[in-house]
Amino acid sequence: MISADSLRRLYRAPGSAQPPAPERPRFAVVTCMDPRVDVAKALSIPASDLYLLRNAGGRVSPDTIRSLVVAWSEADVTEVIVVHHTDCRVAAFGNGELRTHAAAKLGADVSAVAIDFDPIGDLRGSVAEDVERVRRPRSLPPDLPVSGFVYDVETATVDAVIVDPFSVLATRTRIRS
Ligand code: ZN
Repeated sequence: MISADSLRRLYRAPGSAQPPAPERPRFAVVTCMDPRVDVAKALSIPASDLYLLRNAGGRVSPDTIRSLVVAWSEADVTEVIVVHHTDCRVAAFGNGELRTHAAAKLGADVSAVAIDFDPIGDLRGSVAEDVERVRRPRSLPPDLPVSGFVYDVETATVDAVIVDPFSVLATRTRIRS
């Protein structure tokens, strides 16, 4: 049996205008694993509408794109939000320092930690870069709204870096910019 949602996707012509809004918006939020970052509360997103993708820094990696494609195609996520935060360990150090710290704890040579940690230089710049990383792949629809924010761990509030003109979240949440 074909669901109404499947039919809507089937009959959506490439390059068509914004698809019909689902009954309830669903949000995929890419953010840092740091437990101080409470995006659900800051963005007023109910847990039932939130697909939360967390990693070190909240960076958009190939695996993040994999999850976003599944969130969109299989779970009908309607909007993507990227949130980086103040006082992030991935922003405090570069690749060299992060490798040195890990190697010291490991009791091994730095060469044993040959990982690109995708460190953050400029916080607002990294948000803009990751919004672009979501928008770029052709595996996601070009009209999927993608916005980016900085979360302040001191005040538990968000500042807008990029707000997509089709963002439903922005219309229902008070967001500082
Ligand atoms: Zn962090």
